[in-house]
Amino acid sequence: MTARPVSGPAAIPSWTVGEITAQRIDEVALPPATGAWLLPGATPYAVAEQDWLCPDFADDQGALRIDSHSFAVTVGGRRILVDTGIGNGKKRADPAWRDLDTDYLQRLTAAGFSPDSVDLVILTHLHTDHVGWNTRLVEGSWVPTFPVARYLTARTEREFWAGYPMDEARAQVFRDSVIPVEEAGLLDLVDVPGGGVEIVPGLRLVPTPGHTPGHLAVELTSRGRTALITGDCIHHPIQLSRPAIGACVDIDPERSEATRREVLGSLAGTDTLLLGTHFAPPTAGRVVTHQGAYRLVPVPADPR
Ligand SMILES: [Zn+2]
Repeated sequence: MTARPVSGPAAIPSWTVGEITAQRIDEVALPPATGAWLLPGATPYAVAEQDWLCPDFADDQGALRIDSHSFAVTVGGRRILVDTGIGNGKKRADPAWRDLDTDYLQRLTAAGFSPDSVDLVILTHLHTDHVGWNTRLVEGSWVPTFPVARYLTARTEREFWAGYPMDEARAQVFRDSVIPVEEAGLLDLVDVPGGGVEIVPGLRLVPTPGHTPGHLAVELTSRGRTALITGDCIHHPIQLSRPAIGACVDIDPERSEATRREVLGSLAGTDTLLLGTHFAPPTAGRVVTHQGAYRLVPVPADPR
């Protein structure tokens, strides 16, 4: 497998939303096989129909580029991390997630987010590639990486998985990446009404169910500017042109598509910056209508 290089700690991409900044903390570029598995409707033919995807979001063979990263968001002086990637040293069946050894924590620290300075960790949902750095291995035990942070997810999300008949692989994710945070008393379950809920001035959790029942997107608002961090309600920009393309792991595919159409319809033609949780660089953009659906007009990170 060929790994694409990711940027070094000296070049952490950042976007400004009024007085809020959102930095992208790279973890790893996932292999082409991940895209083909995750979004089976995104065939090379479907990719080729959308020439705007190449070369940023797909290669010239029609393989999707899909990345794992977090957003480190500074809101009113608070350090807030949105999703925590795959994590190092986790035992996973999929080779793309298994036993990683990345410099994610060094990047996060270089961005001004040393682990003991993070105030809040928002988990858009409880899948393996969003909870990984919740914990790290210390002397043989998985312990919270962010010891003074509150970790937040939707109550609906936690309760869904509590009642879900997990296979061993998923149970392992909860044992090493979710339960240690709960046992440390650091996990808060948030009741998220249909219209969303503001948890910090300028930061709102937006229910975007379908991929998982309690899935959240994260809306940032400051001084008349707005951004939306997708989580996994949109995995890849091809879903702007083809909102019917779903992920193989969507819990409720119809709901997932309806949510995607709703989000895209609300963003189209607006100034809202879309920050994609799995979007390859340039990662961010604005949604515009295109051939009966939508496309992304990339917005590069701020010049340094
Ligand atoms: Zn994901």
